[in-house]
Amino acid sequence: MRLDKYLREQQVGSRNEVHELIKHNRVTVDGQVAKKYDFKVKPDEHEVAVDGKPIKYQAEYFYLVNKPAGVITATSDEKEKTVMDLFTPEDYRTDLFPVGRLDKDTTGIILVMMDGKLGHRLASPKSKTRKTYLATVTGQIADTDLQQLKDGIELKDGTTAVADDARLISQDPDSVVELTLHEGKYHEVKRMFGAFGEKVVKLHRVSFAGLTDEALLPGEYRELTLSEIEELK
Ligand code: URA
Repeated sequence: MRLDKYLREQQVGSRNEVHELIKHNRVTVDGQVAKKYDFKVKPDEHEVAVDGKPIKYQAEYFYLVNKPAGVITATSDEKEKTVMDLFTPEDYRTDLFPVGRLDKDTTGIILVMMDGKLGHRLASPKSKTRKTYLATVTGQIADTDLQQLKDGIELKDGTTAVADDARLISQDPDSVVELTLHEGKYHEVKRMFGAFGEKVVKLHRVSFAGLTDEALLPGEYRELTLSEIEELK
């Protein structure tokens, strides 16, 4: 891979910025000042550095984010804070995007990764990606309501949402229900409870595609482990 491309892919700077760095002798390969933009870098063999700071090569980035309430699922927004605003400048990359969507008031697990087929597949409403939620709902949830969630609920757009493992966690006085969905419909959980006249006052996503992390505080994120990435693929 060309040296200038390598540096751009690692988000060191734009094409022009990277060329400037090379021109000003600030880039080294294995300790030697690199003079050519098109020097052929072998990411597994060469050590590239800018101002002495090693620039490691990584082709893909995957993060697990614990989205706090009040943050929107978008890459940028003029008024609202986005999930991408949770990233430090060191980790932020313009080619990262959130997979799927959580409402502004929903908290919990969201995957952030580089744009590509895998992300689109995981987010697709047709995919069977499992998402587990804890929904705090006003009022009492009866066994018949739970059965209805398990059997499937006809939503306004004519589709049926099924949560075959729905169970009541507590009822004091609001009800907390854990449920796993396999689709990715708009406002799905809120609409499911809305179908039998209940309001979701709090919604938290516990896991996405089997990925979870109880140690992540709201607003925190971490990179996926290699085995988690393998599982996703
Ligand atoms: N279902 C909802 O209603 N909202 C979310 O944020 C996620 C699932």
